[in-house]
Amino acid sequence: MELCQERFLNYSSLLSSLVNEDGTGLNDTTVAFLHQLFPNDMFVKAFSLLETHNIFLYVWSSSEGSNNGIYDVSALAETLYDDNLGSTTLLRMIVQSIDQEFSKEPIYVDVSAWFCSCSEYSECLQDLTSITIADEDPLDKYFEIYSHSTGDCFSRIRENMYMNTSKTLCQHLLAGAILLQTSAKVLKYFTAVKQTVSLICISNKDDWLKLHLNIVE
Ligand SMILES: [Zn+2]
Repeated sequence: MELCQERFLNYSSLLSSLVNEDGTGLNDTTVAFLHQLFPNDMFVKAFSLLETHNIFLYVWSSSEGSNNGIYDVSALAETLYDDNLGSTTLLRMIVQSIDQEFSKEPIYVDVSAWFCSCSEYSECLQDLTSITIADEDPLDKYFEIYSHSTGDCFSRIRENMYMNTSKTLCQHLLAGAILLQTSAKVLKYFTAVKQTVSLICISNKDDWLKLHLNIVE
């Protein structure tokens, strides 16, 4: 049985063209289109996060002490898109809250599980409780099944399973998906070229464990 449903847009490909061919600047036409594509100014908010030094990507490296804390950000970004290494690399994404009066807590984002600790995302999930038993399978509303042969990684949580982004999307997940579910070119642009997103290699176990308490220093 053909599991692939026509998605009309390859979001990974489209979001990847956010950055120009040589990865040195933004593609203004694509940026303008993306402003219209996502509702409720979602793209504007996500793009703002990407440009204002509020996102921290921590990557675990077991090569403790071998590089004296010096690492190549571009090379690290490449490993996250490496077919062999990318899926097994340990990664934590933390967003510093930009609205300090609303919340001082850092926000934890797990793009691969399509989870975010923000209140916006929680509100998306609260809709689940309002679904009546008469619905055959309420969870269907939150998941979509596509063939991996489409090459679209946006909101993918397993080989063929995707989150339904019309039901579950927040600015942090969109920003995370732009970084981690498009192409190495995009990730390198924000981390190594423009340097507005911090990509940090950690090889100290104590520092890595602190991340699980959402401590950002
Ligand atoms: Zn969020």
